[in-house]
Amino acid sequence: MRTGIPVEEARALVLDAARPLGAETVAAREALGRVLAERVVSSRTLPPADCSAMDGYALRAADLAGPTPIELRVVGEVAAGGQRESDVAPGEAVRIFTGAPVPPGADTVVRQEDTEAADGGVRILVAPEPGANVRDAGEDVRSGDVVLEPGARLGAPELGLLASLGRSVVAVHQRPRVAILSGGDELVEPDGDVSGGRIVASNAYSLAAQCREAGAEPFNLGIARDDPADLERLLRAGLQADLLVSSAGVSVGDHDHVRPVLEKLGCRLVFWGVLMKPGYPLAFGRFEGERGPLVFGLPGNPVSAMVTFEQFVRPVIRRMTGHRAPFRPRVDARLAEDLEKKAGRLHFVRVFLESGPDGTLEARTTGTQSSGVLRSMTLADGLLVFPAEATRLARGQTVSVQVLDPEFFAREDPLP
Ligand code: AMP
Ligand code: MG
Repeated sequence: MRTGIPVEEARALVLDAARPLGAETVAAREALGRVLAERVVSSRTLPPADCSAMDGYALRAADLAGPTPIELRVVGEVAAGGQRESDVAPGEAVRIFTGAPVPPGADTVVRQEDTEAADGGVRILVAPEPGANVRDAGEDVRSGDVVLEPGARLGAPELGLLASLGRSVVAVHQRPRVAILSGGDELVEPDGDVSGGRIVASNAYSLAAQCREAGAEPFNLGIARDDPADLERLLRAGLQADLLVSSAGVSVGDHDHVRPVLEKLGCRLVFWGVLMKPGYPLAFGRFEGERGPLVFGLPGNPVSAMVTFEQFVRPVIRRMTGHRAPFRPRVDARLAEDLEKKAGRLHFVRVFLESGPDGTLEARTTGTQSSGVLRSMTLADGLLVFPAEATRLARGQTVSVQVLDPEFFAREDPLP
């Protein structure tokens, strides 16, 4: 087991242990946010035929060569879903509606707004370019096209595309099941009695939400007392999961039993202690032969638990779900204040991200960086990365910030 390792090394070790889970078939309508486990090849051409992009008249461009207005005979009508077999001959037009196939012979559609009714026909007032307002067959998708690759996240456009190809079921990666354990004699459920210094085991709630947001299915093992036998009983119930995440009890205190109990259950600890703040006391382990879950022993302090989850558990979940981009996006921002620390540990500083006077992004701390201040996480837009060996970041300097809101920007974090 390694101890006191850099963040980058810890990230490499956890990602190395994570594999995408197998595929399952789900209804496409239920697949929002899932990650594709198959290559989708189109068996259709869309649109299947040249069709009209407008309500108007289908005609031959050659008939529009002379000066406008031009009168044409209207010989029929075709609506979306309809068909017209006979050709449009010279001097003729067919009334057409958006989405309807352009009849044989015709090659151009004139918008209805550019026409007026004439005796037995239509008067073209404005002649468009040849081929105007016609959507070519296969302009969207051609039969045999690879439209989605494995690893693609299924969002709204992907689900629409699948539907248009007639796909009502789709193969996606399974979602990891994450067992969440809280440990500590002082902990109670949210509706419990908090007299006598007891506190709510809030980590079970923030961590479960982080799991969901990352694409996993959390389930709660409950609260273990600071007693090896109780801890063992609850941890055993989590051995069927893909991931086991416990918080608290991983330090070196007399009441910290998580490490020895995990080892007793056959878990091999890969590392303990990461050179970061918040969150030094972090354990990661795995079972031999890839039988049991990957195991994280996160620190108990609410902010430390959330920040270490962000750095290590979330990327593992994302990799298990088949995501190609396991990390949060990062942005450059200008630091709005001076920051100092000792060398040795990488600090993740909770910051607001705001637009500065000249429109550039500015990072400002949310205030105290105590790892007990959970409210700071509700305020933070991101985590500023204060590198391990740096001791000072000056106001005005460009800094790198992990964006916690996944929708904030779409740039992938290239670094640990
Ligand atoms: P420990 O790692 O057991 O020393 O816990 C560190 C701090 O985190 C203590 O103040 C605990 O009360 C607190 N803590 C532990 N577990 C939780 C939890 N599940 N939810 C909220 N706070 C916790
Ligand atoms: Mg404790």
